[in-house]
Amino acid sequence: MNPSNHKKEGSPEPMDRKVYADNAATTAVSPQVLESMLPFYREIYGNPSSLYSLGQAARAPLEEARATVAQALGAKPNEIYFTSCGTESDNWAIKSAAKAGLKKGKNHIVTTAFEHHAVLHTCQALEKEGFTVTYLPVHRNGIVSAQEVEAALTDRTALVTIMYANNEIGTLQPIPEIGAVCRQHGVLFHTDAVQAVGQVEIDVKAQNIDMLSLSGHKLHAPKGIGALYVRSGVVLPNFLDGGAQERGKRGGTENVASIVGLATAIREACSTIAQRQARLIPMRDRLIAGLSKIDRSHLNGDPEKRLPGNVSFCFEGVEGESMLLLLDLNGISASSGSACTSGSLDPSHVLLAIGLPHEVAHGSLRLSLGDYNTEADVDYILEVLPPIIDRLRSMSPLWERIQKGELVYHLD
Ligand code: PLP
Repeated sequence: MNPSNHKKEGSPEPMDRKVYADNAATTAVSPQVLESMLPFYREIYGNPSSLYSLGQAARAPLEEARATVAQALGAKPNEIYFTSCGTESDNWAIKSAAKAGLKKGKNHIVTTAFEHHAVLHTCQALEKEGFTVTYLPVHRNGIVSAQEVEAALTDRTALVTIMYANNEIGTLQPIPEIGAVCRQHGVLFHTDAVQAVGQVEIDVKAQNIDMLSLSGHKLHAPKGIGALYVRSGVVLPNFLDGGAQERGKRGGTENVASIVGLATAIREACSTIAQRQARLIPMRDRLIAGLSKIDRSHLNGDPEKRLPGNVSFCFEGVEGESMLLLLDLNGISASSGSACTSGSLDPSHVLLAIGLPHEVAHGSLRLSLGDYNTEADVDYILEVLPPIIDRLRSMSPLWERIQKGELVYHLD
């Protein structure tokens, strides 16, 4: 089944169409992933720590899953820790590095202004404990340079944490270069690769990554499972004190079914990166080209150094939430960088970090394409979205002022 399109046979009505274009928010669990998980609910339900055969039957797949995840990242199995989500992996990595740094008199962290809140709020919590955090600007193209990272390092820097790919605007950071700079200066380097795994080639050794966070639900595994890679030799305090699971660092009976599902998903995603890119990039670029034709529309982030499926735009004189609601009425699931789930009326910190004025950031739209999207989905979005924007603008006092030239934004 293609979850993105539930169009009834022979029915041309647009309202029947469903286009799921929010794969950066989460993805559908794939049939292969689900199949691989089911035995661990039905037959192989033993506790992997139990010595009898039903327990040991769950232990072997758990360790095989660890090896699979490690292999996909170019790591060793004993460098992989299973967690409950990307947020947990980020917290564990950053707080561990901070704690280890403090023991050596290092209390400075370098990050960027447009990280996911899992990183930003962790850094802010550490600031309250006395850490100094440098939030590097990411410029209009949504990219930070390795030179800027290097310039921010001091002899008190304990950690550099910079995301591999941004979740809103999809921009890819120069991770290998940043990794090289950090290694050269002997500073730990963590990357939040939640959006990047399975989309771009990652090799933690070649790219000098000391710690990496990932999350299952972005790549067709279930929600509630993630992993943290930690290079052997890096000090990692316990996350959960308890039993001997995860080499004693994260107690708690393992979520075997989800761990196996994560491994299935990563094996599938990481062995088909080239095919995924070859399929998604032309679809992404066609969508970008089509939406660029809309008057006063602006692509957010670098046109090329971005995730294969990410399309992020701002439309002047349009309110993001209204756009999402009208898209939803037409069967299209998308997301906006403004207001968002927090219920706050502030525009997204990511869009502000790339220098967009508040009013423009409020008119943002993220379409994130994935494995189940088709060219027909792109056609449908290009058919439905422009009239929605026209309709919203016809009701917008802001748009009237923009058209009269009373409000001018210099963005491109
Ligand atoms: N980091 C990034 C870049 C993300 O996009 C997300 C989720 O949207 C997370 C971290 C958090 O992952 P999880 O939902 O698994 O906690």
